[in-house]
Amino acid sequence: MRNDMKALAKSKPETGLWMERRPVPEIGPDDVLIRIRKTGICGTDIHIWNWDDWAARTVPLGLVTGHEFAGEIVELGRNVTGLSVGQRCSGEGHLISNQSRQSRAGKFHLDPATRGIGVNEQGAFAQYLCLPAFNVVPLPDEIDDEIGAILDPLGNAVHTALSFDLVGEDVLITGAGPIGIMAAAVARHVGARHVVITDVNQDRLDLAAQVTDVVPVNVARQDLRDVVAGLKMKQGFDVGMEMSGNQAALDQMIEHLVMGGRIAMLGIPPGKSPVDWSRIVFKAITLKGVYGREIFETWYKMIAMLENGLDVRRVITHRFQVEDFRDGFEVMRAGSSGKVVLDWG
Ligand code: NAD
Ligand code: ZN
Repeated sequence: MRNDMKALAKSKPETGLWMERRPVPEIGPDDVLIRIRKTGICGTDIHIWNWDDWAARTVPLGLVTGHEFAGEIVELGRNVTGLSVGQRCSGEGHLISNQSRQSRAGKFHLDPATRGIGVNEQGAFAQYLCLPAFNVVPLPDEIDDEIGAILDPLGNAVHTALSFDLVGEDVLITGAGPIGIMAAAVARHVGARHVVITDVNQDRLDLAAQVTDVVPVNVARQDLRDVVAGLKMKQGFDVGMEMSGNQAALDQMIEHLVMGGRIAMLGIPPGKSPVDWSRIVFKAITLKGVYGREIFETWYKMIAMLENGLDVRRVITHRFQVEDFRDGFEVMRAGSSGKVVLDWG
């Protein structure tokens, strides 16, 4: 009998998360129950841990957190077809309605009524997760649980990287966090020419170079112009992916883009930040905001690429048993790790 379970909850309005006993969720007719095996810690979870202004405004107290997971289906709602008990899966953590114009046009990722598990709704840092069957993404045997647990952020990277054609193009990625590094691996995989990644954190640039074939640039010490000249690039980067949320990084990207260049922006700047709009106009730059993953096109492409040689495993730098979750959060908070994965047994 499944009665109660371990879960990591935001129980108090202060720094931290707390391991608690919670009832196993009851599923509705269109849901499945997933036994969680591995979860990834996301930057979002760090905001919730830190209980910053955004988290305090957004996350209801008592919520079970977490949205990056892989597990196994253990129960099916009575309307669910096409899935089976025992099936390994990950899933899309954005819960969407089917009411909006966007959803009804099949653009589920643009539904304005989106709610996130582990942010607005009960999350995946628990032994069991209730998820609409619609959101389930079955995992092929080639994709193990720890990779399954980072498909959410890999999906952010894939969504951003596939926003513009990269074949034969020179690509600049600002921010060598886990998502920037995985985006570099995707850009390589799909056939970009030069992939340059910037950061001010040398540990992260070193990690980027271990994960994939990129040119890491520490912009605190190196001049990007010298790097561009060294690569014998004549004009500038064709495509930029902003993955830091840092204003200086965006300015630098705009400066180093070709006339008519394209920028996909995933990084979230804290509050408002000034932008040199006339520079964007005169360089005829296209800017695209990127949110989440395309449901389910990004998932399809990502799994196909993983089955066909895309390798991001080295971006996982730390693995902990869930009992040691505090160590995992501390490593993430220190800022030089890649992905941190928790094992739920
Ligand atoms: P992260 O915070 O781990 O990485 C950001 C990196 O940017 C850090 O390594 C930091 O040192 C670096 N950086 C800081 N200043 C810089 C500068 N001037 N130039 C270059 N790099 C600089 O973040 P992550 O988890 O990899 O996520 C990347 C970004 O995407 C974050 O801003 C995150 O909030 C955002 N995000 C957005 C979505 C979405 O749906 N839009 C989803 C997930 C994450
Ligand atoms: Zn995430």
